[in-house]
Amino acid sequence: MTGEEASTERRRLLVFGGTFDPVHNGHLIVARYVAEALGFAKVVLVPTGVPPHKSGTRADAKWRLEMLRAAVAGDDLFVVDDLEMRRQGQSYTFDTIMALRRQHGWDTGIFWVIGADMVEDLPKWRRVREVLDAARIIIAARPPWDQDMPRILDGLAGRLSAEHVAQLRKSVVATPLVDISSTDIRSRVRQGKSIKYLTPESVVSIIDAALLYKEREIPQKS
Ligand code: ATP
Repeated sequence: MTGEEASTERRRLLVFGGTFDPVHNGHLIVARYVAEALGFAKVVLVPTGVPPHKSGTRADAKWRLEMLRAAVAGDDLFVVDDLEMRRQGQSYTFDTIMALRRQHGWDTGIFWVIGADMVEDLPKWRRVREVLDAARIIIAARPPWDQDMPRILDGLAGRLSAEHVAQLRKSVVATPLVDISSTDIRSRVRQGKSIKYLTPESVVSIIDAALLYKEREIPQKS
């Protein structure tokens, strides 16, 4: 997808949702590249309250929000909106899109960024058809899923409408491949390994000071 294609809508919002447990440089690099590629001056970061697709977060919402705010402090590109955390119950993307429209105007074009790893799970999203009608999903490269993107997109045929699959095919944005994950960061902290350069220094400091992710993760049922 190009900036020209993305700029046909009048008011536009680029949104990047995530558990951010913790936020890492993969998130930040990808968000910046997508914004540049599509001509956005701002990226709205939306930390999940209670994520429906994950079986529990490991740091409290309060810490995840604090780390996210610290990570982007002083960077004009980013705006953090904690609307999902302020909402009761599970966080569903459709509800968030509607809430953002209520906030920014009903005619706002919402561009919602996901990593390549999320694409094959899209059909399982609650009200996915309405999500795909209400927002433009933008797919950012993420190793190793990006290598499989044609097969993953082909696999959506029959599970999503042909129009939605065609639109997703046009929504892949070339971003650097950054093989960093929150899972790896949590695991490294648990093992006493360094997480320097995987996430901003400010986030490392919070993790150290609050002793986050030190406990062993309890395997979750999927
Ligand atoms: P975890 O390892 O706990 O599953 P995560 O690293 O995937 O976490 P999330 O906060 O769950 O991070 O991800 C939020 C969004 O960012 C998702 O759409 C995910 O696909 C995307 N994302 C996360 N890390 C990367 C990365 N390194 N490159 C591209 N996209 C990413």
